[in-house]
Amino acid sequence: MTLTKEVKKQQPKQGMLENVMKQFNAAADLVDLNPNIKKILEVTNNELIIHFPVRMDNGDVEVFKGYRVQHNNALGPYKGGLRYHPTIDIDSVKALAMWMTWKTSLAGLPYGGAKGGIQIDPNKYSNNELERITRRFTYALGENIGPEHDIPAPDVNTNSQTMAWIADTYMSTKGPSERSKNQHVVTGKPVGSGGLEGRDRATGFGVFLTIKFWAENKNIELKGKTFIVQGFGNVGYWAAHFLELEGAKLVGVQDAFGSIANPDGLGAENLSEYIKGNNGSLIGYSNGKAIEKEDFFGLDCDICIPAALGNQITEKNAQKIKAFLVAEGANGPTTVEAEQILLKRNIDIIPDILCNSGGVIGSYFEWLQNRNGELWELDEILAKITKKMAEVFRRVSKTSQEKELDMRSAAYMLAIERIEKAYVQRGIFP
Ligand code: NAD
Repeated sequence: MTLTKEVKKQQPKQGMLENVMKQFNAAADLVDLNPNIKKILEVTNNELIIHFPVRMDNGDVEVFKGYRVQHNNALGPYKGGLRYHPTIDIDSVKALAMWMTWKTSLAGLPYGGAKGGIQIDPNKYSNNELERITRRFTYALGENIGPEHDIPAPDVNTNSQTMAWIADTYMSTKGPSERSKNQHVVTGKPVGSGGLEGRDRATGFGVFLTIKFWAENKNIELKGKTFIVQGFGNVGYWAAHFLELEGAKLVGVQDAFGSIANPDGLGAENLSEYIKGNNGSLIGYSNGKAIEKEDFFGLDCDICIPAALGNQITEKNAQKIKAFLVAEGANGPTTVEAEQILLKRNIDIIPDILCNSGGVIGSYFEWLQNRNGELWELDEILAKITKKMAEVFRRVSKTSQEKELDMRSAAYMLAIERIEKAYVQRGIFP
């Protein structure tokens, strides 16, 4: 089977919008959210769907469908990633944009929430084609993005190279004296092009930190604990990297192409090198045994890290999970129904809007660095991310204990209350 066919076969069922709305409605009840503000937050501010043509390597023209959804900007410019995936549609982008609003609010950042992407399987295109697709999409987005208005970043199947093309295209549409002022139109750029040292690992590092803080609260040693990771891309790999440094063992991995396990440890570094040289796929990795896709979440382990797509832990597999902790590296990996099953089974969940917020916190530092013309060093940046995440984790943990709530409900409460306060203080124009 070709890689592309396999990716298509594994497209998850959509339904993330339903999930985020259920979470939001439950949280709105908990905080007794002002009904007028609820009306504003349950819809998105702007939804853009763009069809744009691009010339392919063989001379033919293909028309692509791109999205940018801006959910809310009460707290600052819109912020959120760009995803290149065949399952991208308007509802999934709306859901992902909403999660960004809650995430940036919870982290105390001066940002709102947005998300976007292109409905495309990038495995089907050459690097030159991907560059032209990205640049033409950026041009079509025009002034709908901007360094003080809406700031994209990497997400599934986009990376620092994608961000460099976007920054260059956007800056090229400005006059010479304006160009460098616009470098922070995207974050997650390569270090040589205004990127932040360590932005590559910021999300996975943050996932690791939240697991570490959780374990410290419970007096649990991470050394010797086993963990599984779904999705071994930017987030999954870096989370595994830092957990291994702490002495934990990676015993199972699933990606878009297959699933492997080894109770003695797969070795994150070797696996990552193998995947890089194997078109992004883990198939054929010699230090792991291939297992059925359906058996992945039932693997024996202490910690389960979904770090791929939404709606992966569902009513169907939540009963099988053996881990005592689910740390949501991905956005929206657990359905509301599955969450109820996990909580009843006393499995803790570090919710996405907390667990993977190291990425947007890193992006904020990159944005500040560009805006202020500064250059920060890696140690300093990781220390800043650690300080910020420790503070957010402490607030969520405290609220969860005081109000006897699960961590997602506590995180949502804090996120929504901050936005509500901004609206109450400002009122509604006119
Ligand atoms: P990536 O493109 O680097 O990696 C994605 C990984 O998921 C790949 O290993 C891919 O093979 C795998 N995958 C894709 N479809 C799958 C499927 N159906 N089943 C199993 N595995 C599958 O993406 P990423 O940047 O690591 O993002 C992963 C998740 O983390 C997404 O939910 C994203 O929204 C979230 N996230 C990313 C960032 C970031 O900074 N990159 C920040 C916050 C949240």
